[in-house]
Amino acid sequence: MKLLIMGAPGAGKGTQASALAARYDVPAISTGDIFRANIKNGTPLGVKVKEIIEAGEYVPDELTEEIVADRLAQDDAAGGFLLDGFPRTMHQVHFLDRHLADRGERLDAVVSLVVDPDVLVERLLDRARIEGRADDNEDTIRRRMEVYAGQTAPLLYHYEKLDLLVEVEGTGTVDEVRERMLDAVDRHTAAR
Ligand code: ADP
Repeated sequence: MKLLIMGAPGAGKGTQASALAARYDVPAISTGDIFRANIKNGTPLGVKVKEIIEAGEYVPDELTEEIVADRLAQDDAAGGFLLDGFPRTMHQVHFLDRHLADRGERLDAVVSLVVDPDVLVERLLDRARIEGRADDNEDTIRRRMEVYAGQTAPLLYHYEKLDLLVEVEGTGTVDEVRERMLDAVDRHTAAR
């Protein structure tokens, strides 16, 4: 299974990505997690992306794509993967399309977690209090929402046209959303 999970900041991508990846026994690959780990460890990549991420902006496409290409080349991703937080721009979409086409592969489904914008901000502010992520302060959250709406939300149309999009209502408890999502993906993939 080759899957993507998309959603605005705070939609619950990371949480639900683990469940989805476990269900289909594929690695969950989060570009946000990869960047944060590099920042934490002070690697050259971490140094490069720290300020960008803390400002709520996107890391440049070429750099992000290089990271993803390296990660997808690892053995555990050979049989399938779940990408969480990639692609986020049309440039990244084209990169992924080419990457898969070169290998004679294609995506199976793109999950989109849909959550009301007011709920998103609430969740992110709660998460800020609990986890203390540097990009979870109010100004940065607002900027991340804008960047998402401008650059990433349009990608949903691309995947809808390809009949890959599985929209899932992301409000409710974590368990409710998980069951709803797993059912929807099962139905989508069974029907293909
Ligand atoms: P969220 O969806 O809550 O914003 P993520 O962990 O997915 O959290 O991403 C955190 C940040 O990492 C993003 O705001 C962005 O700066 C950077 N980032 C993650 N994935 C990408 C990507 N595909 N392209 C560019 N920047 C990215």
